[in-house]
Formats: sequence, structure tokens, C-alpha cells
Amino acid sequence: MNLIYLTATQIAQLIHSRQVTSEQATQAFLDRISATDSRVGAFLSVAGDRAIDQARKVDQKIAKGQIDSPFAGVPVAIKDVLCTTDEPTTAASKILKGYVSPYKATVVEKLESAGIVILGKTNLDEFAMGGSTENSGYQLTKNPWDLTRTPGGSSGGSAACIAAAQAPISLGTDTGGSIRQPASFCGICGLKPTYGRVSRYGLLAFASSLDQIGPMAHSVEDLASLLEVIGGHDPRDSTSIPQPVTGLAAKFGTSIAGLKIGIVREQIESEGLDPEIRQNLLNAIEVYQSEGAKIVDIELPNSQYSIATYYIIAPGEASSNLSRYSGAHFGYRSSTVTEKSGSATASSLVDMYCNTRGEGFGPEVKRRVMLGTYTLSAGYYDAYYLKALKVRRLIRQDFDKAFEQVDLILGPTTPTAAFPIGEKTDDPVQMYLVDLFTVGANLAGIPALAIPNGQSKSGLPIGMQLQAAPLREDLLLHAGHAYQSTTQYQPTWPTLS
Ligand code: GLN
Repeated sequence: MNLIYLTATQIAQLIHSRQVTSEQATQAFLDRISATDSRVGAFLSVAGDRAIDQARKVDQKIAKGQIDSPFAGVPVAIKDVLCTTDEPTTAASKILKGYVSPYKATVVEKLESAGIVILGKTNLDEFAMGGSTENSGYQLTKNPWDLTRTPGGSSGGSAACIAAAQAPISLGTDTGGSIRQPASFCGICGLKPTYGRVSRYGLLAFASSLDQIGPMAHSVEDLASLLEVIGGHDPRDSTSIPQPVTGLAAKFGTSIAGLKIGIVREQIESEGLDPEIRQNLLNAIEVYQSEGAKIVDIELPNSQYSIATYYIIAPGEASSNLSRYSGAHFGYRSSTVTEKSGSATASSLVDMYCNTRGEGFGPEVKRRVMLGTYTLSAGYYDAYYLKALKVRRLIRQDFDKAFEQVDLILGPTTPTAAFPIGEKTDDPVQMYLVDLFTVGANLAGIPALAIPNGQSKSGLPIGMQLQAAPLREDLLLHAGHAYQSTTQYQPTWPTLS
């Protein structure tokens, strides 16, 4: 039996019934990483022996009946923006090269206490800014379905490692689509939870009012179990919602008849949408209708402003969050001495800040810091940032109104399937437009699920997106699970040639 081609739920059952140990499962994935990651580039660091040690400890606890968690013994990969204390946490930025956090993220603690074994840290766009993982300060990650294409981003490493059978589950973060878009590009499932569902303590912040950590996996069933492990209230994150995250799979296997699913015609008919994505979406609508769901036309009139709004708010928050990387506290410090003619400030503190940030940040991060400081500056705040906050409220109100009529909204995740490496790197606006269908959920704080719903003629994965009202992950997952059961969905893996 080849463990790497199983879902996390299947691996967990084998471990639970003592047919396989956590050590064996962990070793199988570590071997796969060694054999393939020089081609895929999903990992920035691999835990290796430490993962095996952890797996052995979990095996002992399982043997003594000390762990009672659905995924005990299953290995996971995590995006390198989540603080761990044994290996560096870099956000794929040179500015955090070699930085080891003194504390663990809450989600990391939760994984560990559930007996889930961390395989390593995955690559991303620097500080999660991007949609292709090409902005990493360290390496490219390739899409396992076509190594000339991007895996999407910013959680590209967390998506690619699952598609490449290097890990059965992973954690990503989603500020404007970074879980859902790479999930769709790599043919896997990903969930952005309601804002506040999962603690952000120990997540290196990009845009704090938008960031959420979420699960990535082969099946909706896996997502539900993993979200229950990582979710819930955390007093260390003041935005965390004081409600337990349980019972997400309670309705699995029951009918979805009567469920009202909204669709936005303009989205489906929009010229920018790839015809194959449109066709797969229409097919999915039929699947839902055949299961008894009611399809209802809805409108989200302000969604046309979502990209503009997001690309004001996210850089604004980023410019503030990233001010902490000055060379004084964390990671990299420039040793360059700037000679300022006629001044005695050759090695002043400000020069050290400037040189550190100039050398440590990549071009996209600098662009966002500049955009953000501009829109937050006294003269432009009202015209841009404040205006964007108001439009953000209107976008949320559109969703609130829609969810008075429907239970879920179904649409595309991305305008196209995975694009070639290098295609959009010269034009940031083209890269930003990829987020057209995903940023709305972050601006509104609502949960959204991306699941595979087919393949293009050229063999690239295609995904679709379901969105729900705040805290209705249960509905999202029920509908996602129903789709996967009806269509007899089975995960597939590319042959890595
Ligand atoms: N692509 C979006 C951006 O560049 C979203 C990133 C994210 O969700 N982390 O900001």
C-alpha cells in the first residue's frame, strides 16, 4: 500500500486501527519530499529527523491510548508564516533569513497536541503578497500538474506539496485568496474560514483585518477534521471568536435538497472567465440541481470594486505591519555602511533601517509598503483609505443581503487555470486581477471553500468556489461534501515527470 496516495482521513484510519504507525506514514512522505522536491520546490525547510522523533512520540501516546484526536499521527506541512520554534520562520523573505521564533503559533500548538506531525515549512510569495509564489525571496515553486506553470499563491508551497503527494494535508493563509486560488490551480481543496474562526496568534501578519489561516487537503472531509483541530477561541488573539468549532461534518451524507444556492450571472457570463471554467461551473450547477438544490440568481453590485478596495486596504495594513522589520529586532540586519557626503550619519540608525529594508525586502513587498504609506498619508487618507473602508462595508452589505435570500453562493475561484511561470511577473495589475473572485470573502470576513470540479483539455485542474454567511462553515462543507459524493470524486495525482 502506498501511503502517499491516500487522504488524511484514510491514513488516520490506518493509524487508528494500528495497521500503520505514524512513523511509517511520516517516513513515506519525507521520502517522497526527498525524491521530488528538487523539481517541485514546495518546501523551504523539512523537519526530517525531528518529524520522525515527533511521530515516534505520537505512536507511543497512541499505543497508550493518550491521544484521542481524529488525525493523530497524520503528517502536515505548514506555510512558512506560522511561527515554530525548531526551524526558521521566514515568510519567504530575505529579511527573516534564519529567524527562529521564540514561541509557537496557536495553530502549531493545536496541531502538536492533536498528535499531527509537522513535516516542514512551505514556500510562499514573500509575506504572502502575490498570487503565484514567484515573489518568494528564496525559490520558485512549480505546479506539479505542469512544471512550467505556477502553483498559484501565495500558499503555493502548501498547495503544491499536496498535489505532489509530499503531504496529505497542509495549512495555508488567505488574505485575498491565497488558500483558494492555489488549491484550485493544484487540483485540491482549500477553505478560508470566517474571520476570527482560527487564531492568528503567531501568524506573521500581512493585512490583519483580512488574514485567516485555513486547511488545505484532498477532500472536503479532510478539511472539516483539520479545521476542527485548528479552530476555536484563543484569548491571545483579540479578534478570535469565542465559539467552538465542532460538528462540521455532522450533516455529511444527508441530502442537500432544498438548499438555496445563489449564482451571480455576470460572474459566470463575464468575458474574462475562461470558457472551460465556465463550462465546469455550469456542470456543477446541474449536479447541485439534480441533488435538489434550488439555484437562485443574486446580485453583488459592489463586487466590481472589490479589487480596487482590497488593493488599498491590504497594502495599507501591510505597510504598518511590516514596519517592525527594521533590522533592530528580527532576522536580517544590513552591514552596509552608507557614506552620506558631508554628513556624519554614515552609520546612523536610520541608514541601518533603510539599508536593511532595502536589501531585505523584495520588489513586491516594497511596492506594497510604498502604496500603503501613500494611501495612509495625511493628504490621501480620506480620498483612498477611508473611501476603501466605506466601500468594504458596502461589499459586506451586499453579501448580508444575498444571504437573506440564499444559503450559499457558487461561482468560479479564478478567471483561468494555472498560468505559466513568468507570464504576469512584469505586470503587477495582471497579477492582482487573478484575485477578482476571491478578495470579496476576505473583505466581508465570510467563509469560502474552493474544491476541484474538473480538468481543462490540456490536463490542468479547475476549481470552483462556494461562499457562505459568517460562521456557516458547516453549510459550506456539507455542500462541498455532497458534491464530492455525488460526483464520486477521487483525488488524482500528476505523474511528476
Ligand atoms: N493575491 C493576493 C495578494 O497578492 C492575495 C494574497 C493572500 O491571500 N495572501 O495580496
